[in-house]
Amino acid sequence: MTEARPGFARPDSVEELSELMTGAHRDGRSVAVCGGGTAFDDHPPGRTPNLLIDMGGLDQVIEHSPGDLILVAGAGAAISELNRVAGTGGQELLPDFPADRTDSGATLGGAIATRAVGPRRIGRLPLREVVLGVTVVLADGTIARAGGKVVKNVAGYDLAKLMTGSWGTLGIIADVAIRLYPKPQTEGFVELPGAEAALEVLGSQVAPSAVEIDRSPGGRASAVVMVEGLPESVESRTARMVDTFPGAAPGVRPSWWSRRAQAPVTIRASVSPALVPELVAQISQLEDTIGHPIQLRGSAMGVFDLGIGAADADPTIATRVVLEHLRSWSRRQLSATLLCAPAAVWDEVDAWGEVPGFGLMRTIKDQFDPDGLLSPGRGIGGL
Ligand SMILES: Cc1cc2nc3c(=O)[nH]c(=O)nc-3n(C[C@H](O)[C@H](O)[C@H](O)COP(=O)(O)OP(=O)(O)OC[C@H]3O[C@@H](n4cnc5c(N)ncnc54)[C@H](O)[C@@H]3O)c2cc1C
Repeated sequence: MTEARPGFARPDSVEELSELMTGAHRDGRSVAVCGGGTAFDDHPPGRTPNLLIDMGGLDQVIEHSPGDLILVAGAGAAISELNRVAGTGGQELLPDFPADRTDSGATLGGAIATRAVGPRRIGRLPLREVVLGVTVVLADGTIARAGGKVVKNVAGYDLAKLMTGSWGTLGIIADVAIRLYPKPQTEGFVELPGAEAALEVLGSQVAPSAVEIDRSPGGRASAVVMVEGLPESVESRTARMVDTFPGAAPGVRPSWWSRRAQAPVTIRASVSPALVPELVAQISQLEDTIGHPIQLRGSAMGVFDLGIGAADADPTIATRVVLEHLRSWSRRQLSATLLCAPAAVWDEVDAWGEVPGFGLMRTIKDQFDPDGLLSPGRGIGGL
């Protein structure tokens, strides 16, 4: 284990991680954990921890079973490296992750903690269903294995599911068993003129892997469909879309594919697919009202990132107006939460709105981390 400087540690094994956590718990020191650091400067900002744990020492591939479609690795392993290893067996990790983050070193643990997802979410199981097992070091240093030995204070919980989207607030993910998927042989892209056409493709027999919508500030929304599979299947499905949907044209992977909008503030808006065209129209209206550029990008399944503001202007008021407008427009059929923003904006807006199930989350947090030492303030609803 290397102790680079006070307040920073890089354990090389689960046991060392456990020792660190035991010591921090005994001394009442707060702890945060860093994987690839690709979301670390994003928010919720949380409070500065007494100890920052770098997961880079736990980056080994522990087991790779192509026959069983399973890979077990340390939580500090880079997703790009795990996909390279899986590729040696003609496979890839089953969940799709955002390319901008995986290119920058996002780790397996960080992706699970933030519930990361890339465009190819259609037809693939969600992350919480493909994490088959986890080893977690709890706030007091206890090593808990999901499905393995029974640990007093986690009995009754599905640890693997609980860790997905936990933001480092319930425990530190040490290693993970994850499902693999046969790597598709080919991919094809078709461009569509707008959000309505994207919805039609979702409801068709084309079986897309992804349908993404992108709208640059001030512009019109366009959609891109991705199909994957055997070359002849990709070719025939691409041709069918071009023949069937007015305005559809063969395309290539766009430069923005699987990349987050670049803007001072990002809001996450989730709606049912049926409301997607209306949401896109609302964004154009809002842009005119607030006088700030808004970029919209996301899946026709209804999960969008809205990039707000110009680099030289304070986006606080615009952020507040967009959040409030979307929440009242949709009358509870949409969730709008702040994803990334400068610290000052977090202080000035209602970042979360009403969080469904917050009471249960609070109860679980209190059970797992009664002293509030794990990543304080970084969880959903500011937990
Ligand atoms: C608020 C927010 C929401 C996001 N939502 C999405 C999304 O919905 N879809 C998407 O594709 N991407 C999302 N991202 C981005 C993406 O998930 C991350 O960039 C990347 O996957 C994180 O990996 P990392 O290794 O760089 O994590 P880091 O940036 O190092 O850490 C990110 C968070 O995960 C925690 N963490 C890291 N490793 C562990 C571990 N081993 N055990 C426990 N906790 C750990 C950290 O404490 C921190 O809170 C989001 C980012 C933010 C800030």
